[in-house]
Amino acid sequence: MIICKICREKFESNKSMSWHVKHHNLTNKEYYDLYIKSDKEGVCLTCGKPTEFISMNKGYRQHCCKKCLNIDKNVQTKRLNTNIKKYGPRLFLLKKRKIKLNKPYSQNMELVIHMQLKQLNKKLKKPT
Ligand SMILES: [Zn+2]
Ligand SMILES: [Zn+2]
Repeated sequence: MIICKICREKFESNKSMSWHVKHHNLTNKEYYDLYIKSDKEGVCLTCGKPTEFISMNKGYRQHCCKKCLNIDKNVQTKRLNTNIKKYGPRLFLLKKRKIKLNKPYSQNMELVIHMQLKQLNKKLKKPT
């Protein structure tokens, strides 16, 4: 059940809701930006550039382009293993991306790092 935050009308599906916002003279993106979006959304997790809006249901992409998505997935997990010992997990990523922790997307970053660390720990624990 989705409730329109403007007029409190209830809708069964995201589709009907996305049609409905047009009655308020808003695009899905505008409605999302105004009522749903959080500070951390809409910026690329890799480079911090604005990302594309997908839908009211899905929100924004996490990366601005395929390149950034791949960087986030591959480079980090591969290099994390070696660099983690050098700099420690957080410092390494922050250093590499030249990102300061007080940026709005820092919480997302922390989550990404946390998840990668979990994966890494699993790998390290496996006997080779
Ligand atoms: Zn409404
Ligand atoms: Zn990017």
